[in-house]
Amino acid sequence: MHSIFYYSHELARFDFGPDHPFKPERAQKALELCRRYGVLDQPYMTLKSPPPLEQKKLLLAHSEDYLDVLRRVGQGEIFEEMLSFGIGTEDNPPLRGVYEWSRKCAGATWEGMVELLGKHTHTVFNPLGGFHHALRSRASGFCYINDIVIAIKEALDHNARITYVDIDAHHGDAVQEAFYHEDRVQFISIHESGKYIYPYSGSVEESGEGNGEGFTINIPLPPKTDDEVYLEVFHRIVLPLIRSFRPDVLVAELGADSLVSDPLTHLMLTNNSYTEVVRELKGLCSRILATGGGGYDIYRTARSWTLAWAILNNVEPEDEFAGLVGGMMFGPEMEVSTLYDRPYTIKGPEKDKIRQEVDKTIRFLIKRHHL
Ligand SMILES: [Zn+2]
Repeated sequence: MHSIFYYSHELARFDFGPDHPFKPERAQKALELCRRYGVLDQPYMTLKSPPPLEQKKLLLAHSEDYLDVLRRVGQGEIFEEMLSFGIGTEDNPPLRGVYEWSRKCAGATWEGMVELLGKHTHTVFNPLGGFHHALRSRASGFCYINDIVIAIKEALDHNARITYVDIDAHHGDAVQEAFYHEDRVQFISIHESGKYIYPYSGSVEESGEGNGEGFTINIPLPPKTDDEVYLEVFHRIVLPLIRSFRPDVLVAELGADSLVSDPLTHLMLTNNSYTEVVRELKGLCSRILATGGGGYDIYRTARSWTLAWAILNNVEPEDEFAGLVGGMMFGPEMEVSTLYDRPYTIKGPEKDKIRQEVDKTIRFLIKRHHL
């Protein structure tokens, strides 16, 4: 068994600007926490710097026109045409260096997949990946290059069957679009309903077309969904679907913006359900490619990614500073000496309403997929 954690200080320092919610430095916080909790020091683990992806591979997910525009933007050019490619908006600013940065973030996810398709690697984590909103010819939702689509296309060229599970609070729209007609990719996205947030898609009725009919599974959840309801959906729908598909590699987009403190979304999860999901996924497939994604409470995101890495590698996090009076604190957290969040549940009529809505979704999917 061999596992790879992709990281580069240079990439983690890439800056979207002071007012932009996307902070690549979360990856650095996660790495520091992994070190502090002793979950990166096993002999079978490698810390690797993301390699730049070659142009040819970028074409697996993007048009030549778009890549040309993105390259010019990365060199510092500003021009009107970029707007028709989604660049120059508040979400996707024209950042100098963005082409090279994205190429390396995607290089890690791609190389990780190639490693998993070989014999020796079982686990890969790229906290600088997971750009599930980047469309073929359009930047969107803080994403410029779709590393996930590139890696899955590579796997299909190797005749692998892939399950893609997206637990980011936002619908994995661009990954869905890329494989909507594909029966060798099982796409599962659990997200806050598009009725309330970006990208406003991912309804339960979107289920694939042609050969891909039934291989796209969307689970939209109402705002304020908590751990209890979330885990019920996961156990009743997601687990049996993956079990019956039997993927060769499981790709997991582990965006942490579904957590209760996230400023951009309204789901109310703690990392207790988040980690339970990671644990179950690990039990389902021996090869896992995990990526980052959303996560705008950077400390909580870093804690959750540290736990995810530990679980994927069967190691127990232990705080080497635990018990020291005045010892190191990590961020503005109250839960010192454990990475796990305090439990949080919604109660009363509000919970009943959430439950009713989610039950409807569960019933629909059970019938649709004969579970
Ligand atoms: Zn997100």
